Amino acid sequence: SSTTVEGVQEWLEGIRHQASTRLGQGKVASYIPALSKQDANRFGIAICTNDGRVYAAGDAREPFSVQSISKVFLLTLSLRVFGNTLWERVGLNPSGMPFNSLIQLEAECGKPRNPFINAGAIVVADSLVSAFATPVQVIQDTARRLSGNSSILIDRDVLASEWKHRSRNAAMAYLTKAFGNINNEVDDVLHTYFACCSLSMNCVDLAVALNYLAADGYSRQAGEQFVEAELARRINSLLFTSGMYDAAGEFAYRVGLPAKSGVGGGIVAIVPGQFSVCAWSPALDDNGNSVVAQYALELLSESLAVSSACA
Ligand code: GLU
Repeated sequence: SSTTVEGVQEWLEGIRHQASTRLGQGKVASYIPALSKQDANRFGIAICTNDGRVYAAGDAREPFSVQSISKVFLLTLSLRVFGNTLWERVGLNPSGMPFNSLIQLEAECGKPRNPFINAGAIVVADSLVSAFATPVQVIQDTARRLSGNSSILIDRDVLASEWKHRSRNAAMAYLTKAFGNINNEVDDVLHTYFACCSLSMNCVDLAVALNYLAADGYSRQAGEQFVEAELARRINSLLFTSGMYDAAGEFAYRVGLPAKSGVGGGIVAIVPGQFSVCAWSPALDDNGNSVVAQYALELLSESLAVSSACA
């Protein structure tokens, strides 16, 4: 049966095999030049179950740039410090606009629609610059502690590349500051935001690190209740409505799980009460979501539905 260790491994290999048929579709992100060097033919997938078992297939241990997946760490850390007062500064609704849109930010007076679009994550990063003397260190340490991988690093090439091509994000940050919703120096806030996007982690790291969202806020790896169960549930709700850029509705229809993607090609998804999963393949569709990773999660979700129907 698929609940044996061999069964789960075989299931994951089957998903890898079928998902790989879509390698070659989509395009590697190029607006951050350092990302354009990625090999489009990579694919990895890893699962971390709530009882602490890890299963991996393909290139699941190859580090990649987490990019927007880091917005989940930023948000969780900020909510731990500020609780619901954060929502005075950031909204809770899907944006219906590209992740780096400026129009809505201006129209809505510098209050970003949600914490997973760039403007929202920049406000969240600002809150962490206020809260911590060394926010980047805190975020890196958190990623290490939650994943159990103490060698996780910020990729300096990616960081330099993001900094060099920061115009659009800088415009968002300055506009938000003009509306009074950024409290620190824009350069410090942007540096914090980009450094987090530039974390290099692999599928196993991310599946393990974000397992607290599947496990009512408890991180088995860190051995602590990282956030209250109630908060984990709320973060999952936000991931469900806003975690997949402008395609959250389409992804919900295809896969039906809370998830966060990044332009490095990674997608983390949560099966509450059961496991967390990370799939990665660098080539993206027009919405900025990995073509093959999305397909892999769709296959995974379909077979979960089938297996629970048979249970
Ligand atoms: N660092 C990227 C940016 O700010 C994040 C993009 C993403 O993964 O959505 O443009």
